[in-house]
Amino acid sequence: MADAYPPDLPAWRAAARIAADARELGLRLAVPGIPRRELADRIEGYIRDHGAEPAFPANLSRNVEAAHYTPSPDDDAVLEPGDLLKVDVGAHIGGAIADTAFTVEVGGMHRHAHLVRAAKEGLEAGIREVRPGGSVDDIGRAIEAAIHARGLKPVRDLTGHSIERYLLHAGQSIPNVGGMSDERLREGEIIAIEPFATNGLGSIGNGPFGNILRFRADPGASEPVLARLFARFRTLPFALRWVDVADRPVLTRHRRLLQVYPVFVERGGGLVAQAEHTVLVTADGPEVLTALPG
Ligand code: MN
Ligand code: MN
Repeated sequence: MADAYPPDLPAWRAAARIAADARELGLRLAVPGIPRRELADRIEGYIRDHGAEPAFPANLSRNVEAAHYTPSPDDDAVLEPGDLLKVDVGAHIGGAIADTAFTVEVGGMHRHAHLVRAAKEGLEAGIREVRPGGSVDDIGRAIEAAIHARGLKPVRDLTGHSIERYLLHAGQSIPNVGGMSDERLREGEIIAIEPFATNGLGSIGNGPFGNILRFRADPGASEPVLARLFARFRTLPFALRWVDVADRPVLTRHRRLLQVYPVFVERGGGLVAQAEHTVLVTADGPEVLTALPG
């Protein structure tokens, strides 16, 4: 079954190492008073300076925001003490993608440590179920049980996902609860496992449209600005911040070619913590690509 592995595994491992280090940098820099935009720029700059490209904009969702918040070009908000901040980071090398996240309570007050711990324990429990031929449902069940054990709820309508070249969300979903998947894991497959723990309802709704966009398909060559942007981002998510001011109106004019992501907000107004690793399914079990070495 060796041919089921990506032929360029070193690139996947290298992208994962850069993403993991960028995640840790973001968690360290997340102190009260830092502008969110500066934090995103520093994380993404680290990825570019180390030989990869961001696979998506740094997601810096706070508190009841579960996912898909990235600063707008003119965002001047700063992190506040007590913010429950998800640092969700992606890096890719030639389309070999890593996706990883962790949660920090800004200012280190640890009032919400049980949320952070529940997401981490959910992730660890899910990873323990990873093996070729293993049931995806077992991962969801393990995550759900671990988060319930902390008296919290998993967010049932957000899932992990398989990853393929230039495809952050490929065919397979990795649920955070049991009873949602009949699939089996394949040797050589790369998946992101990403439980979210909340003290709310365990469900998300769409908030306002954010600043993350994605080409639905190749826009063709008729509009040179779009062709240039597509050559840069392909079908991976990108931030309005990354686009030259002069080019932004072209995107607005061709909005039908783009997917614009709404911010996901917990429906019950609960706080949300997230933990995520990218994992390679090997014959020997899980290889956690975005773990720190040692
Ligand atoms: Mn992620
Ligand atoms: Mn993910």
